[in-house]
Amino acid sequence: MADYKMMVWIDQDLCTGDGICEEIAPDVFEGRDDGLWVVKEEARHFGSTLVFDDEAGDGHGPEGARGVARVPDSLIEDVIESAEECPGECIMIEPYNPELVAEGR
Ligand code: SF4
Repeated sequence: MADYKMMVWIDQDLCTGDGICEEIAPDVFEGRDDGLWVVKEEARHFGSTLVFDDEAGDGHGPEGARGVARVPDSLIEDVIESAEECPGECIMIEPYNPELVAEGR
């Protein structure tokens, strides 16, 4: 199993829905049908895609603080830039924590 350094989640209560995060890091952020953005683990980095959009079924996980995605090392700078540019200041970056990976999956 690969080591990671960073994880990320979005506080949807603060998201303005402008999509700047996805413009900067499309492999990490995705727009949801309700106009808010969520985080994901994209298949090209993790083998299968997991979207933290609170939908039911395989390939989906919880939203908000319970939906914490691993960030591939190659995308760390893009995720930091996304958080810096986010007008809602709602992109939350955390150190990698394997216990968070286990929750909600
Ligand atoms: S940049 Fe921030 S406010 Fe804008 S869509 Fe992404 S998470 Fe929401």
